[in-house]
Amino acid sequence: MTTEELRETLLAAPKNGYARINAEDRIAMNDYCQRYMAFMNACKTEREATAWAVAKAESLGFKPFTPGMEAKPGDKIYYNNRDKSIALAVIGTEPLSEGANICAAHVDSPRLDIKPNPLYEETEIAYFKTHYYGGIKKYQWPTIPLAIHGVVYRKDGTMVTVTIGEDERDPVLMITDLLIHLAGDQMQKTLAKGIEGEQLNVILGTEPLVGEGSDLVKLHIMQLLNEKYGLIESDFQSAELTMVPAGRCREVGLDRSLISAYGHDDRVCAYAELEALFSIEAPKKTAVCILADREEVGSMGISGMQSHYFEHFMGNLCAAQNVALEDCFAKSFCLSADVSNAFDPNFPETCDKRNNSMVNYGVAICKYTGARGKSGCSDASAEAMGHVRSTLDGANVIWQTATLGKVDQGGGGTVAAFMANRNIVSVDAGVPVLSMHAPLELVSKLDCYETMRACKAIYLV
Ligand code: MN
Ligand code: MN
Repeated sequence: MTTEELRETLLAAPKNGYARINAEDRIAMNDYCQRYMAFMNACKTEREATAWAVAKAESLGFKPFTPGMEAKPGDKIYYNNRDKSIALAVIGTEPLSEGANICAAHVDSPRLDIKPNPLYEETEIAYFKTHYYGGIKKYQWPTIPLAIHGVVYRKDGTMVTVTIGEDERDPVLMITDLLIHLAGDQMQKTLAKGIEGEQLNVILGTEPLVGEGSDLVKLHIMQLLNEKYGLIESDFQSAELTMVPAGRCREVGLDRSLISAYGHDDRVCAYAELEALFSIEAPKKTAVCILADREEVGSMGISGMQSHYFEHFMGNLCAAQNVALEDCFAKSFCLSADVSNAFDPNFPETCDKRNNSMVNYGVAICKYTGARGKSGCSDASAEAMGHVRSTLDGANVIWQTATLGKVDQGGGGTVAAFMANRNIVSVDAGVPVLSMHAPLELVSKLDCYETMRACKAIYLV
C-alpha cells in the first residue's frame, strides 16, 4: 500500500458536514430549522415547552396516560408531569421486556426567577427582586430586553398565565448597568463580582400615581398588574414568574448558517427528539421521548429526571404487558440528548481541540462529562459507544465526538448519570453550542438537523 492508501485506510478523517450533504439534504435541513425556530419562539420555559408538546402530541393522536391503560404496538401515549415535564411513548412491536429506546432532553434553561416577595420601590423606581436559576454569568443580564413568563396561582385559587415582552406592542423590562465614566471601581472587580446577584433587580416602572406616600410607583405597577391579570401583591407568594431574554430567534451569519436563541440548551435537543418521535409509527422497540425539567440545577425535584414520575410512567406501560419494570430498564438504551460546548477559536485555551466538538461537524457524542477526574458522570462503556457509532453510521448521520473542555478546566453533567443509575445504558449526545448559557446562544443549522436524525436512528434501532 502507498502511504496515501494507508492513511485512508487507517486514519480517521473528520470532515465538515457541509462536505457531506447534497442539495436535497440542505432543503430538508433548512425546513427543519424553520420549524425549530417556530418552536423556540413559542417556548422559553419548561411549562411552555410541555404545553407545546402536549398540544402537538394530542393533534397527532397521542393519548394521555392513565394508570392501568393498555400499551399495544403502535399505541401513542404521553404523561404530562404537572405541566413542567413530559414523557411520550410510541409502543413498539417487541414487548417492553426487550427494553425501550429512550431519548432524554431537558426544557429548562438558565434565567432569573422572581423572588416570593419581589416588588419594591426605591427612589421612585419600581423593581422586581430576582434569584437566578442555573449557571449564568451575571454581568450578561443587565442592559438587555427581558420578558416575564410564568403563571400565578391567585388568592381565589384560579391560575393565570403571564407573558409580557414578547409581543411587538408589549413593553420589555430591563436591568441597569453602571456608566463607564463611574465604573472605575467596578472595572477592577472580577467578572464574577462586577454584577452581583442582589443587583439583578428588574425595572418595572417609574410613573407615580397621584397622591400621598412613598409607594406611588409600586402602587401604579400593582394597579397595572391587577387590571391585566387580576393580581394582588400577595399573589407573588404563589407564583412562578421568571425573566428571560425578550425577542425571537434569528438566523445568524451572512450565510444564515447559524441560529441565535435564548435556551438552545436544551430545547434544541428536546425539539429534535419530539420531531423524531412524531415521525415514527410502529418501531421495533418502544420509543420514549423525555422532556425533563430541573436539569440546570441538578435534576432533583418532582419534575426533574431523578423524580419517580418516570418509573410511574414506564412501570404502568410495563404492567400493561406483564413485564417487570426492572427487566425493561435492564435492556433499555438512553440517548441523553443534551448540548455540548462547540470549540470557540476565541477561547482555544479552554479546550483540547482534538477532542472537542466543532460547529457543523454534526451531532456530538460525548462518552463522559463530569469534573476533575470524571467526577459525577456516568462514562459510557465501549459497548455503549459502539452501539451509538454503528447505529448512527448505519443511518448515515453526521456525528463527531465531544468532551467538555480540557482536563481540569471545569466540568458539568447531564441527565445521563440518573438514567444510568436506573440500570439503563446511557450515552450523551447533542448539538454543539457557542456562548452556551449566555442570554443568546448559537447553534448551527446542520448540527440541529443531524441531532434530529440521530434521535430518529436511535428510535428505529
Ligand atoms: Mn443542557
Ligand atoms: Mn445547561
